[in-house]
Amino acid sequence: MEKRRRFALLGGRTLRYEVRKHRQARSATARVNRRDGVVVTLPWRVPFRVVPSLLKEWEPFLVEQAEKYGVWNGPAVREFSTGSELWILGELRSLQIEALPAQRKRYSAALEPGALRLALAPEEILDVRPAVEKFLRRLARTELVDRVKHWAPRVGREPTKVMIGERTSRWGSCSRRGTLSFCYRLVMAPPETIDAVVAHELCHLVHLNHSPRFYELLDEVCPGHRQVMAWLDVHHDELLI
Ligand SMILES: [Zn+2]
Repeated sequence: MEKRRRFALLGGRTLRYEVRKHRQARSATARVNRRDGVVVTLPWRVPFRVVPSLLKEWEPFLVEQAEKYGVWNGPAVREFSTGSELWILGELRSLQIEALPAQRKRYSAALEPGALRLALAPEEILDVRPAVEKFLRRLARTELVDRVKHWAPRVGREPTKVMIGERTSRWGSCSRRGTLSFCYRLVMAPPETIDAVVAHELCHLVHLNHSPRFYELLDEVCPGHRQVMAWLDVHHDELLI
């Protein structure tokens, strides 16, 4: 991949964007989100000089999206403070930040109905985002390992390994070696949606493709998977950290 950062004048304002060239890209596309800002992806052989005319073509869309996500000046990573809302296990919770008692060194977290209470050291309070991420990663590990244990016997296969990581394009994946990987932010979704993703990836241990036989198995194991997956699309942009 090759990346370049550029500026363009769109809708009478300066927009900062990034161009990426991908060997796998089939056509020129633009996407906008809070985490990456405005990203234009080009197929490898398309020259960078075509970008300004593409931006003109996409101007109404880009202006609207840059406005929506507040990314005129590039990525807008979320800032967290007391009262910030975030989804955890399908429930919108309000973040409550407290100072850790002086004698305690380690952060503590409590997930309550409607709230996530984090007790942090003074230096962590200055920038809360890493603590929120740490909490979600830990919760994701416990939750996903548990759900894999629950669903594996129903599918009749055990993964060789369960990995929790950060992915921007997929919620889960299954490797040829039988490793299941999940994005830690999946734990923001409701339990039934998490279950559908876990069941989907486990079914790939039987069929490593999206063939009719794969869906036959998934429909049998987890009949409601299609409906509950819609939640991730609806809330996609609220699931960034
Ligand atoms: Zn799949």
